[in-house]
Amino acid sequence: MANALQQLKAYQKKVIRLSEVSAILDWDQLTYMPAGAAADRADQQTTLQMLIHNLAVDPEVGRLLEASAAEVVGQPEGSEDAALVRVSKRDYDRSTRVPSNLIEELVSHSSMAYEVWVKARKQSDFSIFAPVLRKTVELNKRLADCLGYEEHPYDALLSQHEPGMTASKLRQLFAELRPALVKLVAEIAAAPQVDSSFLRGDFAVDRQQELTLEAVGILGYDTNRGRQDKTVHPFCTSFSRNDVRITTRYDEHMLGGALYASLHEAGHAMYEQGLPGHLELTALCRAASSGVHESQSRLWENMVGRSRQFCAYFLPRLVHYFPETFNNISAEELYRAVNRVEPSLIRVEADEVTYNLHIILRFELEIAMLEGRLDIDDLPDAWDAAMHEMLGVIPPSDTEGCLQDVHWSSGFGGFPAYTLGNLIAAQLWNSIRHDLPNLGSAIESGNCAPLLTWLRDHVHSLGARLDPMDLVQHSTGEVLDSKYLISYLHEKYRDIYGL
Ligand code: ZN
Repeated sequence: MANALQQLKAYQKKVIRLSEVSAILDWDQLTYMPAGAAADRADQQTTLQMLIHNLAVDPEVGRLLEASAAEVVGQPEGSEDAALVRVSKRDYDRSTRVPSNLIEELVSHSSMAYEVWVKARKQSDFSIFAPVLRKTVELNKRLADCLGYEEHPYDALLSQHEPGMTASKLRQLFAELRPALVKLVAEIAAAPQVDSSFLRGDFAVDRQQELTLEAVGILGYDTNRGRQDKTVHPFCTSFSRNDVRITTRYDEHMLGGALYASLHEAGHAMYEQGLPGHLELTALCRAASSGVHESQSRLWENMVGRSRQFCAYFLPRLVHYFPETFNNISAEELYRAVNRVEPSLIRVEADEVTYNLHIILRFELEIAMLEGRLDIDDLPDAWDAAMHEMLGVIPPSDTEGCLQDVHWSSGFGGFPAYTLGNLIAAQLWNSIRHDLPNLGSAIESGNCAPLLTWLRDHVHSLGARLDPMDLVQHSTGEVLDSKYLISYLHEKYRDIYGL
């Protein structure tokens, strides 16, 4: 008879395969499904999700976990089997700690809240959304109590995205980042603006499709184990490490959007394609966290895709597809244009420098709402004041202010992953530049293979064996430090803006 760990693996395989099927249904819904199928698809998903949940919380899993833990006693903490038991136990505890009536309440609240958010946003009236947000806060407090925490309820909510991360660690990282960014943004605002006007014009969608596919191929995205399709909101999804798909959206009057969305999603996808094959269909064959996932997309999108070297290599391809626009543009002009910094109201449109301030603002407001220091009715004023303080802009309406993101329909704790991704990417980039001194010239000749190999070795192939902060320390030799992102941004943008 198989030992407990083998039985646990067989059990996990079933749950993971069902989750992959659910991901296919989801991808189909967001790409090709006819609108009339919406109700049936929702029912198919609910049926499948219930099956998955019931399997995940089955007491048999608890028994197998206990027996597996006994089997790995004496193995070093970092061994694969010990890590598998540790991560699986955490998953199981998380799933079983939240009573099913609270899960049901959260699910039904978030679908109702989404509808109310759409309406409030359309009318640009926060007062319509306020009662729903108050309920979101209350439900998230209850969720945090069920999940458990040592210092702050926010830690419990964060743990769903970033195992081991806490509000106090984030506060420390952001306390260093915030003043440095505010100062840099102000310096840039006072300098002459770079010209990016040529990135607007007429760009046929079929050519953009070919161009973006070529671009992600240069990075190393394997289209034999993936494909790119068109959607409203770009995303990456994985049905197994051998079928990792990306989507993008095209604007026929603007080129940058689709190109950089494709590079971003390809960064996510290459992580999934590089997860450890020998651990496939176990709890370790997945990303370490949302923040680490985001570090991969940001690294390829910004550190590579917005580098001088990549712009120099890629310009002839742009000339090939859109000669009338790019014939008279230099690589340096392209480099400056794709790195234009401008304080703006909308997070998803923000550049590399201002983006993190949008996240810090949301983090601070989430904490204040959770602690009861900020009354929900006062959120729009608090939002506007923080925007003015950090970015020097004030939203003219709630739609362009506190109603812009869908996230608060369902829960708190998701936003920090975006900035953690930038922080981790910058720290990895620092180590990469040290380990691969010739990377710049490789990228300038279109060779991204050394970089992908480094990331495979230091990040992708580890899967979820290490918690995110341990992974950073393991890959870079240091704990996560905001100084790497600050100096990366200083170096790059002081050069571009002549500061
Ligand atoms: Zn992303």
